[in-house]
Amino acid sequence: MNIMLLGAPGSGKGTQAEKLVGRLGYTQVSTGDLMRKQIADQTALGAECGKYMNEGKLVPDQIVNAIVKDYLETNHEKLIFDGFPRTLEQALELEKMLAEVNSKMDKVIYIDVAQDVILKRISGRIICPVCKVSYHVETRKPLVEGICDNDGATLIRRPDDAPEKVAVRLAAYEADTKPLIDFYSNKPGFIHIEEASELDGETVYQMIEKELVK
Ligand code: ADP
Repeated sequence: MNIMLLGAPGSGKGTQAEKLVGRLGYTQVSTGDLMRKQIADQTALGAECGKYMNEGKLVPDQIVNAIVKDYLETNHEKLIFDGFPRTLEQALELEKMLAEVNSKMDKVIYIDVAQDVILKRISGRIICPVCKVSYHVETRKPLVEGICDNDGATLIRRPDDAPEKVAVRLAAYEADTKPLIDFYSNKPGFIHIEEASELDGETVYQMIEKELVK
């Protein structure tokens, strides 16, 4: 079974993906992480992606689609898509790419979080550059300030979590990604987690897990 997590930046997609990986053995496909790896490895592709990502803008469809296509050649089962697709063009391409490897998307989980909560979450977010887990300076502190509980790495703030970049990312979400909710809501396997801002991550996870066995 393949799952997609849909929701605004900061809606908790990464947190839920981490739980699904740890507890149910899924493999996370985060296009953001795949591209940040290209940037860290200083590849030409990374340099191209970085131009858009550092501004908070969406990376062009052809580039992201090619990265995912490459990934799907070796992995196409029990995947959890986090941050892809983000445009209708990407969604249509993903259907084709999965069909080509005799696979499909089984569940689309929309995590619905209010905008004011998103802004608070992103403004306090710090992440581990090694294991990618995210913390929050007030609501999800690491055991030792500034240090990852899992691997002892120094926590960092993502450059695109600066307030002016967040505004650009949220605008891109509204314009390009929100239409995907309509696209998927008419298809089988669509799961809407309503008012997720009122719930903690564990409660959201339990709701998702229950839906997956249906
Ligand atoms: P968030 O969900 O918090 O925005 P991500 O790590 O998913 O974090 O994405 C960070 C950035 O990477 C985005 O702002 C965008 O520039 C780029 N990106 C990630 N996934 C995609 C995608 N599917 N299409 C276009 N750009 C993407």
